[in-house]
Amino acid sequence: MAECLWFLFYDKKLLLLEEAKQFHGIPLSERAPLPSESRIHDLGHFQGIPCKALHIAVIPPEFPCALTDLRASYDILGRELYLLAGKGSQLIHWDCSTQFCSWCGAKTHAATPLSKRCAACGREFFPLLATAIIVLVRKGDSILMVRANNFRGDYYGLVAGFLEPGETLEECVRREVHEETGLAVKNIRYFGCQPWPYPNNFMVGFTADYASGSICLQEEELCAGQFFPRNALPNLPPPLSLARQLIDWWLEHPEDQPPLR
Ligand SMILES: [Zn+2]
Repeated sequence: MAECLWFLFYDKKLLLLEEAKQFHGIPLSERAPLPSESRIHDLGHFQGIPCKALHIAVIPPEFPCALTDLRASYDILGRELYLLAGKGSQLIHWDCSTQFCSWCGAKTHAATPLSKRCAACGREFFPLLATAIIVLVRKGDSILMVRANNFRGDYYGLVAGFLEPGETLEECVRREVHEETGLAVKNIRYFGCQPWPYPNNFMVGFTADYASGSICLQEEELCAGQFFPRNALPNLPPPLSLARQLIDWWLEHPEDQPPLR
């Protein structure tokens, strides 16, 4: 049996071992370091090593470990291991939230690694993602930054929001900017995307240019928002976010369009 990297989650937190220094606390062993009755999820490989995720119901008091918030684990693990941890977190969330059929209430069982089937009515359930857009709006040498009421830190972010049924991503960008700030935008271009496992979102990033209107904030969602010039930006969102990647890219390439992917 090959050694695996084990992403163990307890109460939505990632379990790290102090002695597992080689992989920043992710345990490396043939078998799971703690017993669990939950399903083992395959996450792919890291440096050729198979990676697996598991939900732990109980941690023995003598077990030497620390529990880390998934967001905070980015600074400890680095991007590649953090993305694997995020994948594990999403799969565990999906597994836990689809124990029973949402149509008839019967128990579901695993059909494939990424699907479950209802034992009674046969309906299938796959991991669902909630798609959201995030957009960097430029106006001359400034960008539009906002503070949402639910932000945890003292930073400003970019306009973001969930895709609605029947909508294209570009329509979502126009609608969210207009709903949140009252502005119209043009020249919408794809920038990049990333999983956002809180708990099951998928972020798609865009750039756009200011077209018309004056700022009128949607107060139910935002407590502040304005155009900030590049030499007077407020506190920026954390590096793991697509918002920060957009802002960092703009700071380096103020005149450019996003790169082809
Ligand atoms: Zn059913």
